[in-house]
Amino acid sequence: MKKTLFVILALAAGAMTAAAQLVTVTGTRVLVDSCAYFPQLNADGTQLLYSNTEASVLSLKDLTTGQVRTVADQGLPGFDARFGPDGKIYYVTQQLGKGNRVYRAAHVYDPATGQSRQLLKPQHGAVQVIATAKGVAIEGEHASYVSTDDIGLYAYTRGSKLYLSDGKGVSVTSPAGECAGYLWASVSNARMMFEAAGKGLYVCDLQGEVKHRLPSASMPVWLDYDRIIAMTNTNFGAQKDKGTYLYVTTLGGEVQRLTDPEEHAVQPMVAGNKLVYVADGGMVKEATLQWSKTDLTLISYAALVPKFEKKQLDQKADDAVRVFINPGHGGHDSNDRPTPYYCHATGEETAYYESDSNFKKGLSLKRILESKGYEVGISRYENKTEDDLDLFEISALSNHSGADMFLAIHSNATGIERKLNFPLALHRGWNGQPCVEGSDSIARCIMRHLEGNHTTVWTHPSRIYGDWTFYPNWGYKTGLGVLRYNKLPGMLSEGSFHDYLAERRRLNNDEFCWLEGWNFSLAIDEYFGRKGTCATGVVAGRVIDLSTDSPYEGYKFGLDNWQARNDVTLYLEDMTGERLVSARTDGMDNGFYLFRDVKPGRYRVVCDADQDDHPEVVREVYVRPNASTYCNFSY
Ligand SMILES: [Zn+2]
Repeated sequence: MKKTLFVILALAAGAMTAAAQLVTVTGTRVLVDSCAYFPQLNADGTQLLYSNTEASVLSLKDLTTGQVRTVADQGLPGFDARFGPDGKIYYVTQQLGKGNRVYRAAHVYDPATGQSRQLLKPQHGAVQVIATAKGVAIEGEHASYVSTDDIGLYAYTRGSKLYLSDGKGVSVTSPAGECAGYLWASVSNARMMFEAAGKGLYVCDLQGEVKHRLPSASMPVWLDYDRIIAMTNTNFGAQKDKGTYLYVTTLGGEVQRLTDPEEHAVQPMVAGNKLVYVADGGMVKEATLQWSKTDLTLISYAALVPKFEKKQLDQKADDAVRVFINPGHGGHDSNDRPTPYYCHATGEETAYYESDSNFKKGLSLKRILESKGYEVGISRYENKTEDDLDLFEISALSNHSGADMFLAIHSNATGIERKLNFPLALHRGWNGQPCVEGSDSIARCIMRHLEGNHTTVWTHPSRIYGDWTFYPNWGYKTGLGVLRYNKLPGMLSEGSFHDYLAERRRLNNDEFCWLEGWNFSLAIDEYFGRKGTCATGVVAGRVIDLSTDSPYEGYKFGLDNWQARNDVTLYLEDMTGERLVSARTDGMDNGFYLFRDVKPGRYRVVCDADQDDHPEVVREVYVRPNASTYCNFSY
């Protein structure tokens, strides 16, 4: 491959002596007074592009006349639109296609004519708009676009890969290794910057060699060659943006706060010496910045530019359905719902963390979906504090994944003395009016399959809510942090109530969590119309001793009123009585058992066959492929 000689302005050696005051904010003004998000200023600072909170309307405000017009209002065009250096607006829309897959198309809007034109037809997977000083690149997985041959260098990310391109070829590195994903890549001078989820903000050279590692940052943007502006990423688990602020950092890690935490500033963008951002309530503000620019020296960086390979576009028109999973919380901290309890069977105080059961369900679901031919992204691979990503970052990872569906996995708590148990689905929007098409269908499929689980005790039918309706006190159209700014069809599942003690004990059983993951997979198959993904089914149930009351105090419902039978062996037999496989109930007062990978057909489930004091108990079951069969024993 022909090597191009790049001449780039670079930092002179020894120019890293930053002043105590990195940047001076000389004035701020309000550009839009409310309900405007992801602002973008054009090159000369005369026009402002922004979205509403639903991403459903992309608006353009002329800052000289105050006039506002709609750029696009179909297919969720908001959040990631960009100005090109030519003043045109580049944006991506999405629509549901065959089998509820999400297809994304790219468009350009010319403010001079008021006309939009499609640049890339709808394609499956991620589509990203990247603006450089010379043009705009649109990177899709099946087709891409560059506005000019001489676009310069630009960076973008997919999963845990960092791409550097000159518009013709691409070099791929993975400077931070594997994680839940890389975000917000950009190039300034001879430096690439990106955030690696759970690991921090990385700055590398053009070869992908790490030069600086900074604390995690959301939406980082270059101010100049050695200064980055970003929003704080420290409100772990927080549902609101309260206390977030913008700051400037040098590559050496010297930090200066730029906005008051009382403003709750988010979503920074820099154009020249102007900083625009969103303050509380969706107010867009502009600040003018002054700083003494670092000395620059002209250096030939030919040797630093990597060898570009030909870009590989995915030629398959019909690739795998993609799901992005977020097992809620992370680690064993105070916000991971620690609720220890005394286990009568073991005679020990037993720990419970919601982060553990969410993680077991999520990881099971990932493995099951992959075995069914899905592509799966997940927001954490372990259960550590640093895996508990900022909710804004999880939304960004979800959007960025190019997936067809998002699922956040949690369990619930009443927070009051009275205990309940039922599955709850929350999608973004009002009741019956999801912001993202498909979200209510996903909710219905998931609730039906969770509610069908007879190894637990439900006190009420499942419920589906829009998060704006469910949390009226959080602010108008605020809703759940993980769904805010999340453009994927999807929802948050509160699978059951972990503060109902009998359920909390079950959630400490790995196979019970696996069963929830399996039931999610059945619902996801149904939503995507892919019912034949697995040739086998599962049989699950509980074994209950109706002669002994449960030793646990407090609220109990249904079969939870009696003692579960611990360490009981069950056999799955064919109809001739041949024993095929055995299972055992746990020793944690759950009486739960599970047979996986059962071929379709009629079987006998034999319980307690090894006990002398009473005869074995037998139930006949019919197992269907890709389905759950329930068989409880109470005697
Ligand atoms: Zn939770």
